[in-house]
Amino acid sequence: MYALEGLRDVCELKICTPFGNPSDAVVIGTLEGSRVAFLPRHGRGHRINPSEVNHRANIYALKTLGVEQIISVSACGSLKEELHPRDMVFPDQVFDRTKGRASTFFEKGIVAHIGMANPYCPELAQRLYDTATGLGFRTHRGGTYVCIEGPQFSTKAESKVYRSLGFSVIGMTNVPECKLARESEICYASVALVTDYDVWHEEPVTIDMVIGNLNANTANVKQLLKTAVRHVARRSADGRHLRMRHRPPVRHLDRQQAHPLEGEEGPQAVDREIPRLIDR
Ligand SMILES: [Zn+2]
Repeated sequence: MYALEGLRDVCELKICTPFGNPSDAVVIGTLEGSRVAFLPRHGRGHRINPSEVNHRANIYALKTLGVEQIISVSACGSLKEELHPRDMVFPDQVFDRTKGRASTFFEKGIVAHIGMANPYCPELAQRLYDTATGLGFRTHRGGTYVCIEGPQFSTKAESKVYRSLGFSVIGMTNVPECKLARESEICYASVALVTDYDVWHEEPVTIDMVIGNLNANTANVKQLLKTAVRHVARRSADGRHLRMRHRPPVRHLDRQQAHPLEGEEGPQAVDREIPRLIDR
């Protein structure tokens, strides 16, 4: 999904960051009266694999634009019988099985420890869930998203272990996005779109099924985003969402000028209410 119907006043920005280039130009526009920014994390044409995504540049670019809420959209596999293909899952936990991804802004002389007990913004996730449920989609609130390195899918042994640990869905993108968003003091919530059952399931998977589910999910999530953006932005506009009780403080920061401390405005917080619409 690279185009959202109803997006007006559209412009594209190529943003350079100290961490390199984001996955693509950021498309900025007005959707249902709210300013939104869209960044396809795999690039247009889906040319960047999950291990190669420059997550730091992506999050940095969005922070630079003043983005305050990120809606992460990603395809996932289901690890539970009751999470059917074409369902929408709004996870509340993440389990990190990535390897060697650059997953912090705090390095090279800057040391800070960020609370990650709740990796997804509960308010934003609830709002998205309520909106999706209201639209009649099959939805699930909560659950653990296990993020694997990829680009290969998991083995049966791995898939069965994840199931035995009670995880809900499996994907390749929410880490380190959620961590970097937290470090940047941006709300982050995920819409995980079930494409298929992971390999633990005995049901044979055909390419036609997967593509059919992907297309249906894309149509569904476009509808969700268009509707959700009004609720999300309204919440942001009255300022309440921005004073996040759940946002944990930076425990200590050795070079204070490098990043805002708790309660301070970020140096680049210039605009408000730009949720990120992201694509897998
Ligand atoms: Zn939040």
